[in-house]
Amino acid sequence: MKLRMIGFFIIIMIGLSLLPACGSNSIPTDANTSSIALTKSTDKNTSQSEVSQDSTAQTNTQVEKVQPKLVEYNGTLYHIFYHCLIAFPDVAYNGRAKGALDTDCVTVTEFKRCLDELYKNNYVLVDINSTFETVNENGKSIVKEKKLMLPEGKKPLIMSIDDMVYDPKKLDWGMVDKIIMDEKGNFETYTKLDSGEVVISDDNEVIPILDKFVKLHPDFSFDGAKATLALTGWVGILGYRTNLTSPNRQSEIEAVKPIIARLKATGWTFACHGFGHRHSRKITYGLFAEDTKKWMSDVEPLVGPTSIYVYPYGEALYTTDPKYTILLNDGFKVFCSVYDKPYLKNFPTSIYMTRQGIDGFH
Ligand SMILES: [Zn+2]
Repeated sequence: MKLRMIGFFIIIMIGLSLLPACGSNSIPTDANTSSIALTKSTDKNTSQSEVSQDSTAQTNTQVEKVQPKLVEYNGTLYHIFYHCLIAFPDVAYNGRAKGALDTDCVTVTEFKRCLDELYKNNYVLVDINSTFETVNENGKSIVKEKKLMLPEGKKPLIMSIDDMVYDPKKLDWGMVDKIIMDEKGNFETYTKLDSGEVVISDDNEVIPILDKFVKLHPDFSFDGAKATLALTGWVGILGYRTNLTSPNRQSEIEAVKPIIARLKATGWTFACHGFGHRHSRKITYGLFAEDTKKWMSDVEPLVGPTSIYVYPYGEALYTTDPKYTILLNDGFKVFCSVYDKPYLKNFPTSIYMTRQGIDGFH
């Protein structure tokens, strides 16, 4: 995607009048209607009173920093999404993929420019799970939008990242190969280039870049929220071949477990993106049921239960479609599609919201 195009997109975002995003989808017709735990290194020569005085001073400073005045937010809830980044532009544009990533993906530079613009324009990341609640009304379970209390002047932004699975067929296309972690729990990426060179970086994929950005600008994240990773399952997740057909399935599951635990501990959440990235509206009820069952048995045990369903291709189901009932019965409550503007509809048993893609379609 060309830089000037993303720059243009950002400007449009700022103006809150969004250009058509990726996906050919429309809204279904029935949619008309802290405390900071501070640990002080225990110096044996320091007296207890010194430690507590010092700790109190630090705590006060921290509390002032992290607890701005919260006010009720009544405006639009924004939800944007990205795909994996183009980590190696030379490979992506000149290698065997020959620019194939350009439609869905942005480069590292473009992603960083987006973050800068979003931050400058007072967006704040919120956890999608904090935007709704399930209440009991007259014996019925109802899903409702939740009142958001945010720092004054901030606009809530949900960010999701689709398909961070690193399909083995797309290795050497210019993306990284997998998400790894250093001994301190910081995320990095691992990539083996065609030349055989191994690249380990903390600066070429969404996860480490956003983590570092939030560390630098804590007020870009409310309550430590990062983004939601919308995962399929047919080739595993995050670059680990955890799928049933993988010969190393068990060892790959063991390898990805600490990554998932660390992601969850640092504000990242997960969503279902179907198992095989199928067309929800086109496939039969039986195939859809099978696809969902596979995700629930293969991926959900790894990432934990989620209420968020991100439709592959943004292809939303009508609430009258029996396939939608399968998703409700599996506990999904928030359904995300793709559309050119933010739109949210609160059905009694679910919430439907659109997302705007930041990609190379425009
Ligand atoms: Zn997808």
